Amino acid sequence: MHDLVIIGAGPAGITASIYAARKKMDLVVVSENVGGQTILSSDIENYTGYQFITGIELSQKFREHLEQFEINVKEGEVATRVERVDDRIEIETNANRYEARTAIIASGRIPRKLNVPGEEEFRNRGVTYCATCDGPVFAGKDVAIIGGGNSAFEAVLQMMKIATHVYVFEATDRFRADPVMMEKAEKSENVSMFTKSKVVRIVGDRLVSGIDVEINGEDKHFDVGGILIEIGSSPASEFVRGVTKNETGEIVVDCRCATNIPGIFAAGDVTDVYAKQIVVACGEGAKAALAAFEYLSTRPQGK
Ligand SMILES: Cc1cc2nc3c(=O)[nH]c(=O)nc-3n(C[C@H](O)[C@H](O)[C@H](O)COP(=O)(O)OP(=O)(O)OC[C@H]3O[C@@H](n4cnc5c(N)ncnc54)[C@H](O)[C@@H]3O)c2cc1C
Repeated sequence: MHDLVIIGAGPAGITASIYAARKKMDLVVVSENVGGQTILSSDIENYTGYQFITGIELSQKFREHLEQFEINVKEGEVATRVERVDDRIEIETNANRYEARTAIIASGRIPRKLNVPGEEEFRNRGVTYCATCDGPVFAGKDVAIIGGGNSAFEAVLQMMKIATHVYVFEATDRFRADPVMMEKAEKSENVSMFTKSKVVRIVGDRLVSGIDVEINGEDKHFDVGGILIEIGSSPASEFVRGVTKNETGEIVVDCRCATNIPGIFAAGDVTDVYAKQIVVACGEGAKAALAAFEYLSTRPQGK
């Protein structure tokens, strides 16, 4: 029986781990990766103390900070069930089973899918949800970027420098990215932007070779070697049972990061907290760890 199991090692989970380790709590961190969405961000200019840092560099700094403590980090492990049973929290993963008096859910958000034929088949064979990680693979090719918000246009600005041609497809009737980003894309000769364009299917052989799109009701085909899907994200909260979630699946927390279930706390992007930002997630992670510590101090048996 551990004091605490933390699910997720993004900014929220890493900060919670550091605070819990400094309180000498017996903890395990279960996470698919270390860094979370920070890895996906190209340029970060709003994390206090750094005027500019890349997402990869910041996640490396987070990892180094985490490694200063002797924390049992189960990297690559995925939680499949977290549930309070009697006076303990049960955590099941793809590899292990843990019991703890408290848990902090810091599992963040996962990219939304298009749900069209070919998407799953060509995932990682030309279809990607992370322009920062995979964009360079498509240098010298024609690519399609799906989406019309800031993430999509971050991808456009990155890809227009290295791809031959960039097609941007947005399902609604307007793009919603920051005007300054859209202006840069509009000025570029190798970018073509389409609204009211609905992806119908992704095609290819071993790798992606093209995309079928319905534009203003007309079927069109584009030969592309890469497809970058940037249509937002959903909270990674499905595996958590019993806790109250809002209509979008975010875990509802109070100002101490407590959920409605005693002993289960949540922090960062997976919650209904206002503003999904690194600095906010770190702050929430700190609060969750301190709240879990206080909970244990007042209820030594976790009841
Ligand atoms: C492209 C992009 C650019 C961004 N740019 C900025 C920026 O410039 N400035 C800024 O402040 N914010 C930025 N953000 C937002 C910021 O990255 C997030 O707000 C922040 O990372 C949230 O931290 P988190 O720890 O709550 O969740 P996440 O970073 O999502 O981390 C969640 C962690 O949980 C793990 N996980 C998920 N499910 C499970 C499971 N079932 N079992 C085990 N582990 C699991 C994941 O692997 C990950 O390690 C950006 C986001 C994106 C996508």
